[in-house]
Amino acid sequence: MFDRGTYTEINISNYLYNIDLIEKKAGTKAIPVLKANAYGHGAIPLAKALVKRGVDMIAVAFLGEGIEIRKSGVNIPTLVFNYVKPEYIKENMENFIYTLGSIEQLNGLIEYFGSDIKKIDFHININTGMNRMGFKREEIDFLIKQIKKYDLNIKGIYSHFATADALDEFVKEQYYNFISAVDYIEDNGIELPIKHICNSAAALFFPEFAHDYVRPGIATYGLQPSDIEKEEGLKPVLSWKSVVAKRGVLKAGESVSYGRTYFAKQDIPIATIPVGYADGYFRQLSNKGYVLIHGKKCNIIGRVCMDQFVVETTKVENVNLGDEVILIGEQNGNRITAEELGTLAETINYDITSKITWRVPRVYI
Ligand code: PLP
Repeated sequence: MFDRGTYTEINISNYLYNIDLIEKKAGTKAIPVLKANAYGHGAIPLAKALVKRGVDMIAVAFLGEGIEIRKSGVNIPTLVFNYVKPEYIKENMENFIYTLGSIEQLNGLIEYFGSDIKKIDFHININTGMNRMGFKREEIDFLIKQIKKYDLNIKGIYSHFATADALDEFVKEQYYNFISAVDYIEDNGIELPIKHICNSAAALFFPEFAHDYVRPGIATYGLQPSDIEKEEGLKPVLSWKSVVAKRGVLKAGESVSYGRTYFAKQDIPIATIPVGYADGYFRQLSNKGYVLIHGKKCNIIGRVCMDQFVVETTKVENVNLGDEVILIGEQNGNRITAEELGTLAETINYDITSKITWRVPRVYI
C-alpha cells in the first residue's frame, strides 16, 4: 500500500483536542459521530482513541459500521441513526441503541419482536423539520400509546437540524418543535433520560440548545461546519500526501491528459502526481484544483484521471522525483484545506474527505 508514496496522515491528538474544544464551547459532553468510516478518517483507530479518552457513546449511520468497530474490540454504547432490519437488531442487542424513527418501523418491530421489543434500547427521533426521519407532531400520540402498551425501553430522544450551518431562523423553529415534543411526551408520563439535537455547527454556534449531549461529526475532524462563521480554534486532523512521480516539460502547443482540455501556450515545467479519482480525488478538480510542492501552489492542468493527474510547476525550483506533494494539509507554511477543494469541486468538505477511498492508506500519528 505504501509503495506508491500516497497516504493520509491522521492526527489523533488533534482529533481529541477538537472534541475537548467542542465540549467546552457547548458546555456539555459529545457523542462523536463516526459514520462513513469517520468521514474518511478511519473509524476504528479513532474509536479506540475515544475509548481511551472516555466517551459515554458514539454514533454511526448504519449497524454494519457499528459492528465493524465492535469487532475491533471497542465495546461502547453505539447509537445507530438509520433504519435497521429487525432480524439484524435481534442479533445485535447489547450496547447498541436504535433509532425509533417512524410508525411503520415501530409496527414492524412490534410484529417481529412481540413483547420482546422491550429488550431493545431506543432513542426516539423527532422530525422537527428535516423531513427525512423521525416522528411528526401528529404521530406522537400513537407513539406514546405504543411506548406504554409495550413498555418500550426509551433511553433518549433526539432530532437533527437542517440549517445549523446557515445559522438561520429555521434552527430556532426546529428547536422549538423539539422542545414542545419533548415536553408533551414527558407530560404524558414518559421518561426521556437523554436529549440531544446539536450537530457540529449547532454545538459551536447555538450552545444554548446543547442539552445532555451534542453530536458533532465534521468539527471533530477539524473541518469547518459552516461557511458563515468559522471556529478558528479547531485543529486540522487529516493531511493527504503524495509524491512527484514524473517531471517533464509540456511544450507550447502540446495538450495534456484525456480529452485534450489543456494546451500549453508556452513551454511549461510539469509534474505527474500518482493520485486519481479512484482514490477519491474529485474529477471535478480537473483544470481547477492545485497541490503544494516545496510549499508552492501548482495548478492541475488537464483532466484528473483514475490514477494520476498533472500539475504545472512554474513557481517551483528544482522539482525532483519523489518530492513530497500536498493535496490537503500544510507545507512550508502554506495550506490546502478540504473546504477549498470542496468549493472548487462544487461540493462540501464532508464530501471531500469521506470519499478518500480504501486505496489510500491511513497513517495515525
Ligand atoms: N447527527 C445526525 C443524525 C447526523 O446525520 C449527522 C451527520 O450528518 C450528525 C449528527 C453530525 O453532523 P455534523 O457532521 O454536521 O456535525
